[in-house]
Amino acid sequence: MLDIAGLRKVYEGRGRTVEALRAIDLTVGEGELVCVVGPSGCGKTTLLKCVAGLLTPTGGQVRLAGRVVTGPPPGMAVVFQEYGRSLFPWMTVRQNVELPLREKRVPPGRRDLLVSSALASVGLSDAGSAHPWQLSGGMQQRVAIARAIAYEPQVLLMDEPFAAVDAQTRADLEDLLLALWRRLGITTVLVTHDIDEAVYLAQRVIVLSSAPTVVREDLRVDLPDERDQIVTRSLPRFAELRTHVYGHIRAAKAQ
Ligand code: ADP
Ligand code: MG
Repeated sequence: MLDIAGLRKVYEGRGRTVEALRAIDLTVGEGELVCVVGPSGCGKTTLLKCVAGLLTPTGGQVRLAGRVVTGPPPGMAVVFQEYGRSLFPWMTVRQNVELPLREKRVPPGRRDLLVSSALASVGLSDAGSAHPWQLSGGMQQRVAIARAIAYEPQVLLMDEPFAAVDAQTRADLEDLLLALWRRLGITTVLVTHDIDEAVYLAQRVIVLSSAPTVVREDLRVDLPDERDQIVTRSLPRFAELRTHVYGHIRAAKAQ
């Protein structure tokens, strides 16, 4: 579904050049859930923005279902890190979720149906007429997720989507994401700085090196498919996998 080959990104500023990505090679199969981890500043957000067609790569390319990405592709939805800023405060929750569907020219009847079903699946059926600023951080993030799901993307990209909410909300949102992913089978790439979260959610964990950034490790998470916050996290294999990833990140930082 996604094929990233030799992806390189250099930011050129006045007198300052930052090589954010050296050469990223990564493929993500249809319906896979992949988590990307790496030291802070290693280029995770840059990678997602290149994949989303929001940044032009300096070298290499990204293909979505075989076609080279040159701008935001129609089949992709992104949930950003700063979700508070990605919702329009003057629009209601419903209008926020509906906006990309209007742009996609989905007919009104179908639009209503998609919005209602997406809001229901994130547990916000009653919040449709509220404005984002009337909601808690966790609820705002669920609105951002609902907006992405209502769009029915082929590929869902998420940049540290749960970083700004409290631990309990975070666990709930993780399980919400897993339930949606199981039901809809959307190819998902999620960036997180939380190693436990990556191992808990993913079928594969991609560990990036520090700059100049390449893929350091591509690890299959061989945990049972059914994940549970308590059961999964107390499995010996879970501990082994997280220790393994921690080791790679520590080595990447020391590099
Ligand atoms: P991460 O998300 O892993 O923390 P980023 O992708 O945000 O990393 O940043 C990678 C590197 O690129 C950092 O050194 C950062 O300072 C730099 N960078 C990010 N965005 C820009 C930009 N717009 N202009 C110049 N440098 C940038
Ligand atoms: Mg980032």
